[in-house]
Amino acid sequence: MPPAGPPAARFRGGATLSAMATASRKDPYDTPAMRQFTRFKAEHPGCVLFFRMGDFYEMFGEDAVEMSRVLGLTLSERPKGVALAGVPHHQKDNYLRRAINAGYRVAVCDQVQDPKDAKGVVDRAVTQVVTPGTLVDEDLIGDEPASVAAVLALGTDRFAAAAVDLSTGRFALFDGTAGSLGAWFARLGVREVLVSDGDDGSARAAAESAGEPGLALTERAAWQFRADEALGALREQFAVASLEGFGLSDDDPAVPAAGAVVAYLRETQSVSPRDGGSNGAGSNEGGKWAASGGEFQGQRRTLSHLRPPAREEEDGICRLDAVSLRALEVVRTIRGGSAGDGRGDRSGVLAGDRGGDGSLLGVFVGSGGRGAACLVSTAMGRRLLREWLCRPLSDAGAIRDRQGAVASFVEDRRAAEELGDLLGGMPDLARIAGRVSLGRATPRDLVALADGLARLPGVVELIQGTPTLTRLAETLALLEEPLGTLADTVGAACVDEAPATLRQGGLIRDGYDAELDEARGLQRDAGAWLAKYQTELIEQHDLPSLKVGFNKVFGYYIELPAAQARRAPDVFTRKQTLKNAERYITPELKTFEEKVTTAEDRALERERAIFTGLLLESARHVEEISAFADAVGELDVYRCFAEKATLRGWTRPEVVDEPALEIEAGRHPVLDELLGERFVPNDAVLGRAADASLALITGPNMAGKSTFIRQTALLALLASVGSYVPADRAVIGACDRIFTRVGADDALHRGQSTFMVEMTETAAILHGCTDRSLVILDEIGRGTSTLDGLSLAWAIAERLAGDAEQPGPRTLFATHYHELTELEERLSGRVKNLHVQVREWPGADGKTEIVFVHRIGPGRADRSYGVHVARLAGVPEGVTRRAEEVLRSLSVQDGSRVETQKIAEAKRPSRNADQMGLFTEFLPHPAVDRLRELKLDALTPMQAFDVLRGLVEDAEER
Ligand code: ADP
Ligand code: MG
Repeated sequence: MPPAGPPAARFRGGATLSAMATASRKDPYDTPAMRQFTRFKAEHPGCVLFFRMGDFYEMFGEDAVEMSRVLGLTLSERPKGVALAGVPHHQKDNYLRRAINAGYRVAVCDQVQDPKDAKGVVDRAVTQVVTPGTLVDEDLIGDEPASVAAVLALGTDRFAAAAVDLSTGRFALFDGTAGSLGAWFARLGVREVLVSDGDDGSARAAAESAGEPGLALTERAAWQFRADEALGALREQFAVASLEGFGLSDDDPAVPAAGAVVAYLRETQSVSPRDGGSNGAGSNEGGKWAASGGEFQGQRRTLSHLRPPAREEEDGICRLDAVSLRALEVVRTIRGGSAGDGRGDRSGVLAGDRGGDGSLLGVFVGSGGRGAACLVSTAMGRRLLREWLCRPLSDAGAIRDRQGAVASFVEDRRAAEELGDLLGGMPDLARIAGRVSLGRATPRDLVALADGLARLPGVVELIQGTPTLTRLAETLALLEEPLGTLADTVGAACVDEAPATLRQGGLIRDGYDAELDEARGLQRDAGAWLAKYQTELIEQHDLPSLKVGFNKVFGYYIELPAAQARRAPDVFTRKQTLKNAERYITPELKTFEEKVTTAEDRALERERAIFTGLLLESARHVEEISAFADAVGELDVYRCFAEKATLRGWTRPEVVDEPALEIEAGRHPVLDELLGERFVPNDAVLGRAADASLALITGPNMAGKSTFIRQTALLALLASVGSYVPADRAVIGACDRIFTRVGADDALHRGQSTFMVEMTETAAILHGCTDRSLVILDEIGRGTSTLDGLSLAWAIAERLAGDAEQPGPRTLFATHYHELTELEERLSGRVKNLHVQVREWPGADGKTEIVFVHRIGPGRADRSYGVHVARLAGVPEGVTRRAEEVLRSLSVQDGSRVETQKIAEAKRPSRNADQMGLFTEFLPHPAVDRLRELKLDALTPMQAFDVLRGLVEDAEER
C-alpha cells in the first residue's frame, strides 16, 4: 500500500500547492465537468464520488487522496491542481466492495446520456449511493444478512432501534438495554447505524459497542427522528393510515427510528426523475453511459418489498446475549471471521464471509468437510439457520415441533434426497425479490426467479401428507397457483441462459413476440438479401467484380475496383474513395440500411419493454415470492439437520420442561468434525439426576475443560434450535437463557481493563439468570490477584449454586482455583466436582510425564500440572525445576487460605537452581529492583507497558 497521501486539505478548494503556484491560472474546478462533480459532491455529503469519465470512474481531490491510500490506486494530478485517482469501469464493483469494507460510503455518478448526443458536457447523474448497510447487489454481499439500523437513546440505558435488511425486506424493531442491543445487531447483521445529529453521544456509544468492528456510523438530521416525521414516512411507505394494523401503536418508542431508516433508504435508493430509473446491477457494464430510460425503463425503484416493521417476540425465545454468542463462537470464531479480500480491510463483515470455519454455523454451512449433503444448500437456509442459532427457542413444545419436522426427513431418506435435489442450485429468491422491487433486477435474476419458482410444485408434492410439515405444505399450496403462473410467463418469454445485461439483447425467446421476431428476422435475413442484391447487380450491370459490403463507420456500400469505376451506372452514388476501389450507395441499398438499423434498435427496444413488463409482473408477486423463499429456507434447515443426524450419528434429544441436563457421550460439534475418531466423547449430567445443579471442573491446562463446558452449552443450544445433537443420548430441559463467560479474555476490550469486563459480564449473569438458565463460566476471577479472584469466584459459585428456596441455574464452572472444590462438601446436594483426567507416566529421565486423555470424571483434580505444561511448552529446565520447588514449599492450610509465610519462604533462592543470570544470581541490579517493586496486580496494561518501555530505554542507554 502506498504511504498516506498528503493531507487531504491541501487539495480541493483551489488552494492546493500547484494551484497556488499557478495562481494566475483559472480555478481547475471551473470546467463544465468539474462543476458537475462539485455539485454532486455537495449533494452527497459524506460520500466518496465515483465520477464516470470514459472508461474510468474517477475520483478527485480529497476523495482521490484518500481512496488512493485505501484502495492502493495511483495518485496523479489532472487537471493541474486537482488530485486524481481512477478505477477502470469494469472493476467498479470490486473497488466499491473494498471501499465499503473500509467503512466508506460511495455515490456512483454515471453518464446518463449517449456522449454522441451531448451538446457540450455529457449529462451525468448519481445513479446509486452505496453504503455499508444498503448493499443489495449479489456481488457485493455474501448471503449473510446485511442491515442498516437507526438507534435512538430513550433514557438511561434504554434504546429504541429499527433495522432494515434491504436485500430481503426484513424490518425489525427493538427497544431495550445497550446490552441486548449487541445480540440484536449480531443477528440482523447490522453494518451501518444511523444516529441523530442531536444525539448526546449515548446512542452512538451504544451502537459502537453493540456493533462489529468496522461498523459504519452515519449521522442524520435530528428532525428525521422526530415522531411525526417518522410516522409520516412509515404511513406513506406502507400506505396505511395508522400502524395499528401491524400491531404497533403510533407512539411506539421504536417508530422514530423506523421512520429514520425508511427516510434514509428512500434517499439512497431513489433516483431523481432525470435518471429515469436507469442503472441497476450490470446496466452499464461495458457501456460508457447508463442509458437514460434505457434498459430499465419503467422499472421504478420502490421499497415495496419492505415488510411491515415488527418487534420480535421475546416470549418463547431462549436469549443469548452478544458476549455469549461470541464466547460460544456461534456465528464466527473469536479470532474473527475470514478476511474479506485478504487486504486486512475491516475483515469478515462483508462479502464472502459465511460464518467461517470453526464456528457452530460453520458446521452447517462450512466450506466442504465431509459430504456436502449435510450442509444447508440455499442462501435462504443459511440465513435462517444463522437466525435460529442466535435465537433458539425456550418452549419445549415449539422445539419438539421442529424436531418432528427434522425427524420426518430422518425417517424418510428418499424424501430428504429428493428435497436435496429440488433445493440444489436454488437461486436466492429472497434477494431477487428485493432487487425486483428496488428496480435492480438483471435479466439473469429474472431467469433465476423463474427457475426457482418452477420448483414449487415439486416441493409441495414432496411434503404434502407429511403430518409434521402440514403448516408449510398449506402455505406453499396457496402459492402454487400465482407463482406457477408467474414462472410460466417468465419461462415462456425468456431463454434459459440469460445474458448478464440487456445491452445486446438476447433475453427473449424467438417466437414469443411477433414484433420482436419480425425485427430480428430482418437482421438475420440481411445477409441473404445482400447476397441476392449483389448477384442481381452483377448480372444487371455486367460487373463481375462488384461486391456489396458493410462497415461500421460507413454502413452498407457497393464496391468496384478502381479500374471498373468508370462503368458504374448512374444509380450508384459515390460514397467513399479507397486506394484501389470506389464505394457507392444506391437508393435501394440506403432504404435497406435504414430498415436493418432500425430493426436492430426496434428489437432491443422491444426486448426492454418485454423485460420491464415481466419485472412489473414479478413485482406484483413480491410478497408471495418472499413467502416461498421463507418456506424454502425452513425446509432446507430441517433437511440439513436430518442429514447431519443421519450421516454423523446425531441423536434426537429429549427436550423437557424441567431444568434437566443429561448428555451421554456428547461430542463438541465443531471439534468432532475436525478430529473425527480422535475426539473423546464425554458425559455431562446436571440437575436432579446429578443431585447438583452446579459442576466445578478442575484439571490441568490443556486438559479439555473449556472444550467440555462449551460443548455442553453448544449441545443445549442445538437442542433448543430443534436440531439433533452429537451424543449417544441427551435429555435437555428447555432454557430461558444460555450465558457463557470466559474470564480474562485476552482481547483488550474497548479500553476497559479485562477484569472490569469480566465482572460486568458476570454481574449480568447474576442479575439475569433463573433456574431455567444454563450458565457456563470459564476461569472467571482470573483477571485480578489470586486472593481476590479466588474469593470472587467462590462467592459467585455459591450464589449460582442457589439454595433450597431458590434453586440456581444449571452451571458448569471451569476453574483453576482448586480451593473451590471444597464447595462440594459445604453445599452438598447443589455442587459437584468434576475433573479432567490425565495419565501420568514415568518419563525417561525419572520425571513424571503426563498424557491428556480428555476424559471427564467425578471428583476434583488433585493437582494442576501447570509445571508439566510449562515444561511441555519448552520453558527452560531451570525455571520449571525451581517452580516445582516453590510449589512444594507452598501449602494450602485449610483448603482456602494460602499460607503467605510459606510463599515468603519459598521466595528464598535455592542453591541448586540453575544459573539463570538475571533472576537467580541476585547481583544487585536496578532493573531487578524495579521489577521487585512492581505491584503487578495493581497495574493496568498500559502502565505495565510504560514500565516495560522504561526498562528497555534504560537497557539501550547502557
Ligand atoms: P483447558 O480449558 O483445560 O485448558 P481446552 O479445552 O482448551 O483445555 O483443550 C485443549 C485442547 O485439547 C483442545 O484444543 C483440543 O484440541 C484438545 N481437546 C480437548 N477436549 C478434547 C476431547 N474431548 N477429545 C479430544 N481432544 C480434546
Ligand atoms: Mg480453558
